[in-house]
Amino acid sequence: MPMIAEATSSVASVETNPWISAAARFDEAAAKLGLDEGLQKVLRLAAKEVTVHIPVILDDGRIEVFTGYRVQHSIARGPGKGGIRYAPDVTLDEVRALAAWMTWKCAVVNIPFGGAKGGIICDPSLLSQGELERITRRYTAEIVEILGPERDVPAPDMNTNEQTMAWIMDTYSMHMRHTSTAVVTGKPLELGGSRGRPEATGRGCMIVTGQALRKLGLDPSSARVVIQGFGNVGGMAARLMARAGFRIVCIAEYDGAVYNRHGLDIEALMKFRKDTGSIVGFPESEPIDRDEALFLECEVLLPAAKENVITSENAARIRARILCEGANGPTTFVADRILAENRVFVIPDILANAGGVTVSYFEWVQDRQGYFWNEALVNGRLEEIMVNSFRDVVSYADKHGVHNRTAAYMVALDRVGSAIRMRGLYA
Ligand code: NAD
Repeated sequence: MPMIAEATSSVASVETNPWISAAARFDEAAAKLGLDEGLQKVLRLAAKEVTVHIPVILDDGRIEVFTGYRVQHSIARGPGKGGIRYAPDVTLDEVRALAAWMTWKCAVVNIPFGGAKGGIICDPSLLSQGELERITRRYTAEIVEILGPERDVPAPDMNTNEQTMAWIMDTYSMHMRHTSTAVVTGKPLELGGSRGRPEATGRGCMIVTGQALRKLGLDPSSARVVIQGFGNVGGMAARLMARAGFRIVCIAEYDGAVYNRHGLDIEALMKFRKDTGSIVGFPESEPIDRDEALFLECEVLLPAAKENVITSENAARIRARILCEGANGPTTFVADRILAENRVFVIPDILANAGGVTVSYFEWVQDRQGYFWNEALVNGRLEEIMVNSFRDVVSYADKHGVHNRTAAYMVALDRVGSAIRMRGLYA
């Protein structure tokens, strides 16, 4: 039975449900690839799902119990890899979908990891640092036997950061009775983090965008780029693209967008935002409506804010030649078809934003080597992986006559399926 039928809940939520989007894309790629029915069954379900209840003493002396999850979708190609998010509305379904997503992302860029994801239901804005530390440490202790550099390697995600990773690393190390830096990535540099990690996702977006422009015979120096989201991914992509000579004509943030058809001065915009707290009112730019920015005529549109911004309701209005998905899941599966009909060249999220997990892989390698690379080495190796992965996806698309997203899923399914086939099923 196709995955989509199993997952459907209400019609209204179907298009924007990440589990259903991922399932629809899985089914389409599996069918095109002719993936064995049995392997499809294996890959539809997560290999391991752990739910823990975490008792913690709050600052006022009360005991509260939080629920946490860790899901390992597949470890066929290597240890599980994926972030841990803290949010009041985390669900097991969401964590499952994101874990599968990580399996495909790691396989597309051909790094030796499987896919995993974790989450704790909590509202970090209502918790002190001490409470967050106790929640993190107890959660780590509860799942300690499934973590490890050879088992499952978490990273930061929504509302978790370098500090959270340092607490996880320390708690795990205390249980193992030795320091084990490679158990998490996204750590501070002082604790075995990697150079180049903060820029890695934006850098990866720039590299694959450059490849796409070249493939379409467009000149990067005259390419107009529109970016939604000026945070870690969008801000770094803007800075690196501007330095490389791209013309960033528009940046959209949650409170407004700024436009300059000759190209925005990104360093000045960053300073302006730092000084004023917003990009709105930036000199040498025109203000435009935040949501209208998506529909500007341009060569490159880079959504780097959040999921489900391009849907069946607005996809027909996109006038970009290339859509580089910096965010996870910015396009719904219904919108995919509209973009394909309008010949938008989509660089799908599992390829476009995989620079982050690729440098996380480098961090893990460096921790295990105990030997740290300089930034040029990190960036050079990232470029090699992103360029090769782009070529792999595009050649699948050409060979099978499918669009890039389906091709990316096909590359991933092929690699994960081959690993399972070669390993065989242990019984
Ligand atoms: P971030 O919080 O640093 O940046 C997101 C930015 O988008 C913020 O500045 C926010 O104000 C802005 N924003 C929110 N709503 C908006 C709207 N409606 N219009 C315009 N701007 C809006 O987050 P990030 O780390 O840059 O992540 C962005 C996306 O990229 C997420 O989907 C994330 O899952 C994905 N991603 C991030 C990484 C990474 O390494 N950080 C890696 C892979 C994927």
